[in-house]
Amino acid sequence: MVINPQVGTSGSSSSSSGSSSSTNGNVNGTNANGTNGNANGTNANANGTNANGEPVIHFKGTSKVYSSGNANGTNANAPLVLDNINLAIYQGEFVTLLGSSGGGKTTLLKMINGLVEPTDGSVYILGKKLKDWNIIELRRSIGYVVQQISLFPHMSVEKNIAYTMSIQGQPLAKSLKRVWELAEVLRLDMSLLKRYPHELSGGQQQRVAVARALASDQSILLMDEPFSAVDEIVRHSLRQEIKEVQQALGKTIVFVTHDIEEAFFLGSKIVLLSNGHIEFSGNALQALSPGQSEFTQRFFKTKGFAAYLSVTTIEDILEHELNTETTTAVQGGTIDAQETLMAGLQTMLKTGSDTLAVRRNGKVAGSISMGSIYRRQKGGT
Ligand code: ADP
Repeated sequence: MVINPQVGTSGSSSSSSGSSSSTNGNVNGTNANGTNGNANGTNANANGTNANGEPVIHFKGTSKVYSSGNANGTNANAPLVLDNINLAIYQGEFVTLLGSSGGGKTTLLKMINGLVEPTDGSVYILGKKLKDWNIIELRRSIGYVVQQISLFPHMSVEKNIAYTMSIQGQPLAKSLKRVWELAEVLRLDMSLLKRYPHELSGGQQQRVAVARALASDQSILLMDEPFSAVDEIVRHSLRQEIKEVQQALGKTIVFVTHDIEEAFFLGSKIVLLSNGHIEFSGNALQALSPGQSEFTQRFFKTKGFAAYLSVTTIEDILEHELNTETTTAVQGGTIDAQETLMAGLQTMLKTGSDTLAVRRNGKVAGSISMGSIYRRQKGGT
């Protein structure tokens, strides 16, 4: 896939679109690094430490009660939907929010673009307190993609994607060039660009919504189960694409999902919410490590381990496990370094060998064993 790092790098703020996808506007601080971790947590950001300085999103002791509005506008019995949340998100991080339904994920996400206000504590966006932001300007600064696709029905696909650029007053030729670049990135066939949203499949519409969000220069992108309405195959390719685009453009993404595998695949930092509390924050390996809270252990259980095996490539652990001395001794099967650990285990089961030779670019580059996968899962190197 060709990714143009120039996609979505300029523009100035103007009026909002009123759509549930993105509005426009620019913010400072686009990230030149764009480095992002993987399921193994090979990312300096995964633990919340960051060489780039201040967090771009910072929850400080943030709580939320939805008042159901009695005479005083308050309801003493209303539950705490978010309870003293402390969370720092740094530029270029891909944060995935997981948790049981009603745990507060969407509420947390909506606080970032001011759709929900905190009852207690504060939220800082790009160094400025939420309540000090001009709310229209804030929403223009942050892309927002939700599960319910809401493209403009009376506009062609091309115009939908170009919308934010057109209200930013960018020249048509420049906007169209960017639309084509994004169409290529998101594998939207050129022939679709002149069509109207109702003439596209659900998956194609969702790609257009993502393209529209990426078309502006917003450095923060919020995504609330953006791929759940599309089928499994499209979902896999969309998440691959969003990950590549995020890494190429260095955007900060906060992404709500109920899918552990999706969360591990995309997230450099995984945040698990339950009843308004952060139960866990860290990378996939840490999520599976002993010593986590009971809820965290129950939540990830075997599904978490299977997800880890499915999103981690042999290449990801090869550098720690490369053992050329044993390579010649490997009599069992061979496997490509780009395959997942899950594929490796399947090959071991098929061949009856607990050690496999690993090929990189067609040549045997080392070996991987059941023991090395086990040690890696336990967090060893
Ligand atoms: P999640 O995204 O994890 O499913 P939500 O943030 O949507 O959780 O909801 C957390 C809790 O807040 C739920 O109990 C939900 O019913 C409640 N809630 C969400 N939005 C509102 C609202 N606008 N008014 C009152 N309660 C709400």
